[in-house]
Amino acid sequence: MPSGSYIDGAWFTPASERRIANVNPADTRDVIDEFPAATAADLERAVQGAVAAQRGWAATPAPARGRVLARAVEVARRRKEEIARTMTREQGKVLREARGEVDKGIAVLEFYAGEGFRMGGRTLPCELPDVFTYTIRRPLGVVGLITPWNFPWAIPVWKTAPALVAGNAVIIKPAELTPATCGLMVEVFEEAGLPPGVLQMLVGPGREVGSALVDHAAVRAISFTGSNQIGINLYSQAARRGAKVTCEMGGKNAVIVLADADVDAVAAAVINGAFGSTGQRCTATSRLLVHQDVAGALTEAVVEGARRLKVGPGLDEASQMGPAVDEKQLRQDLSYIDIGKQEGARLLTGGGRPAGLDHGFFVEPTVFGDVRPGSRLFQEEVFGPVLAVTTIKDLDEGIRLANAVEFGLTSSLFSRDVRACMRFVEEVETGMVHVNEATVGGEAQLPFGGMKSTGVGEREMGEEGLRFFTEQKTVFINSSGGAARAFIR
Ligand code: ADP
Repeated sequence: MPSGSYIDGAWFTPASERRIANVNPADTRDVIDEFPAATAADLERAVQGAVAAQRGWAATPAPARGRVLARAVEVARRRKEEIARTMTREQGKVLREARGEVDKGIAVLEFYAGEGFRMGGRTLPCELPDVFTYTIRRPLGVVGLITPWNFPWAIPVWKTAPALVAGNAVIIKPAELTPATCGLMVEVFEEAGLPPGVLQMLVGPGREVGSALVDHAAVRAISFTGSNQIGINLYSQAARRGAKVTCEMGGKNAVIVLADADVDAVAAAVINGAFGSTGQRCTATSRLLVHQDVAGALTEAVVEGARRLKVGPGLDEASQMGPAVDEKQLRQDLSYIDIGKQEGARLLTGGGRPAGLDHGFFVEPTVFGDVRPGSRLFQEEVFGPVLAVTTIKDLDEGIRLANAVEFGLTSSLFSRDVRACMRFVEEVETGMVHVNEATVGGEAQLPFGGMKSTGVGEREMGEEGLRFFTEQKTVFINSSGGAARAFIR
């Protein structure tokens, strides 16, 4: 297993007093790794190496850069089980989800491998005779990626793949809780033939190494996924020096259910959306806005489904929901459960820690009914397996309540009425909009991101994800033999 930080094609041990312990959240007696944290001095060395390596990488034809990604697809396929098991062990998600996440990252690599052949621009007519005008896209240089722990493989891949195929050198700082999975991504690219220095990885504290990355004058863009609290400060910090930024942050995603929906299908989607990945997805379903005519039946089905979920260590194939990622997240989940009770919401199932799993950060799948729209449980992101149910009387109220939060990542409507579906798509204030399916999911070729407080900057994945990591040049070639006459100077 890769350990520590990686600069210029080699793993190294930073000279730091501060140590990072990588612990299995399902059983804290299982210490996966322990190593010294990278420092701001290591970052400086990583930037210098990346600046030097980037020149050769940018000069490599884009289709050849794409082929490195294509080889990474093969390597990742071969090492899928190792990546999935490492991810489950350090992050906690169940193996089925970890394997699915590896596949998602592989699809992203496949998509961006092909983009190497499409790094084109546009030709457009010029207003003047004998002047040829067109655009080209070029890499930015060195870019910084700061990633969270909830998708320790997919998020690093979906930022790194477009950055690399565009010809940038990458410095990635993964979350301290999940360095090994990101380390495996580095190994995959190394095995695929990426030249040393083009991908550097530093495992260190966000406020030291992350912040120094955001401030570094040679780092032309920052792509961040994480909490609003960190993201908004980071955005202004990077903007002060004119760096390009994209931030993907929190969500408080609603499913609206109208009276004509199929209760069993909705219940299955809500259980997946609310409790999948232990609720630790920015796209998790955290609010259920259900029409009064089906509220009773649907709530019962969801509560029943939540009770049946087998909570346990992700490495056990029988487990359906793993632990919270660490003690801090567990405390946050339990504190929102207290807040829900204090606010007068009705606890329908869960609300505590499951018996017999004392060595891990486990929490029960939890459902609250009668959640008031103004309450904290309705408004704030929990990032745990806690679902808030609120009854609505019609679509108008559903859309109004879905929009009555600061976040705008994803949403879903369940109905067979096409007019209701079309209105929902227009009026809901989220970047991702689902009809008759769970709030979760993103695909390599489709732009991913949110509105309002959820996101700033370019969307990720798809063409947009590649565009973010490029600079555009508009070119004028004058072949008239004299200076072209410009009307505006
Ligand atoms: P999460 O807990 O969901 O991972 P955070 O926003 O706390 O969300 O962290 C996301 C990433 O941002 C992590 O890699 C973290 O180390 C990094 N980070 C934290 N603080 C800072 C900071 N001040 N500057 C830059 N990066 C930071």
